[in-house]
Amino acid sequence: MKAEILAVGTEILLGNIVNTNAQYIAKRLADLGIDVYHQSVIGDNPERLKEAYKLAFNRADLVITTGGLGPTKDDLTKEIAFEYFQMESVLYEDILEKIEEYFNKMNRKMVQSNKKQAYFPKEAHILPNDKGTAPGCIIEKDNKILIVLPGPPKEMKPMFEKSVIPYLSKYQDGILFSKILRVIGIGESAASEQIGDIIDNSYNPTVAPYAKENEVIFRITAKAKTQKEAEDLIVPVENQIREKIGIAVYGEGETSIEEVIGNILVNNKLTIATAESCTGGLLAGKIINYPGISEVFKEGIITYSNEAKMKRLNVKKETLDKYGAVSSQTAAEMAEGIAKTANTDIGISTTGIAGPGGGSSEKPIGLVYVGLYIKGKMKTKELRLVGDRQRVRNSTVIRVLEWLRREILKGVLKE
Ligand code: ATP
Ligand code: MG
Repeated sequence: MKAEILAVGTEILLGNIVNTNAQYIAKRLADLGIDVYHQSVIGDNPERLKEAYKLAFNRADLVITTGGLGPTKDDLTKEIAFEYFQMESVLYEDILEKIEEYFNKMNRKMVQSNKKQAYFPKEAHILPNDKGTAPGCIIEKDNKILIVLPGPPKEMKPMFEKSVIPYLSKYQDGILFSKILRVIGIGESAASEQIGDIIDNSYNPTVAPYAKENEVIFRITAKAKTQKEAEDLIVPVENQIREKIGIAVYGEGETSIEEVIGNILVNNKLTIATAESCTGGLLAGKIINYPGISEVFKEGIITYSNEAKMKRLNVKKETLDKYGAVSSQTAAEMAEGIAKTANTDIGISTTGIAGPGGGSSEKPIGLVYVGLYIKGKMKTKELRLVGDRQRVRNSTVIRVLEWLRREILKGVLKE
């Protein structure tokens, strides 16, 4: 089966947004063994859209569109497709009700133009949208398949995973089953190098690395008759990877570092508080992303000035005078200070130079000290980070959380 991806939207043509939908869909189709021969971007223009459908269906069996399913007049993807297939669309009452429900839930009133999103041909196979108003659809005609998906990635991706993948799997013999391992604390090239021989020598399952922000994902994909068979194929390869990568594998499947940390803290009843300078609340925010964290997270404070560090955390004036605010000594006193004042098992601190100004040859931009106080034991770490202000701040948060995870797994739990 040959596939083509059509991204619809003038915003993409103008360079206002990046076509990440095409990237996502292309990757997932590759996982399924479906060849993508072309990708196109079309503006919100009826004539050119129609041309694009003609061209795409001339050279592909499967065309997947994203975008242009909204309620406004320039959202044309569906309408032009139905015209192309010469299908008449009718109002689906049940879909309209769902859209109305969606608006009610958001405490907003549905406007008349949204009605347009409930029109599809009778022949269409509707793809429900759990994250927004516009459903997608699949149309089959004369051995051609059209799959129409919404533009916003947070709507498109769940729809793709929930409805499109199961639909497309009927065009394959057997099933594809993937397991994801999440790796933190080592970069993509280093991680891929460590398991290079496994990647090169694996055919079923295959192992594919993906670099994400601050982490690397290994997707292990097996092809088999049943899921059980696929899982059995995956086990030995997964074990090999875990052996090589070790503790840097922090989780599997859909999870995040904050979820993993949150689980460890809650399960071990370890209370925690944060004292932040350069990360300015990002660290606390990240930890609080985890829904059950209120059981253990006591407080997080931002002590940006020296006065605040002294007043709130009992950092000594002499320490600040002698070593400066960006120093391991200050990081240590901050971490201990917050753990003591908040009365928690763990205190974490961050202090550093995020830039763009303020660096010196002795203390360059990207120099960050983090402190970790766990049950009376104090450790500090010096980080040398690269990138702009945001990147330095984000990296600090990930690095300190990863460090916390390792320290807890290595130490506290074994005592
Ligand atoms: P809506 O109902 O929100 O209007 P839609 O299906 O009509 O959805 P568009 O209007 O084309 O979709 O795009 C809505 C938003 O979705 C865009 O502003 C953009 O943020 C995102 N988006 C659209 N197409 C893409 C794409 N190809 N890649 C990444 N993001 C996209
Ligand atoms: Mg739109």
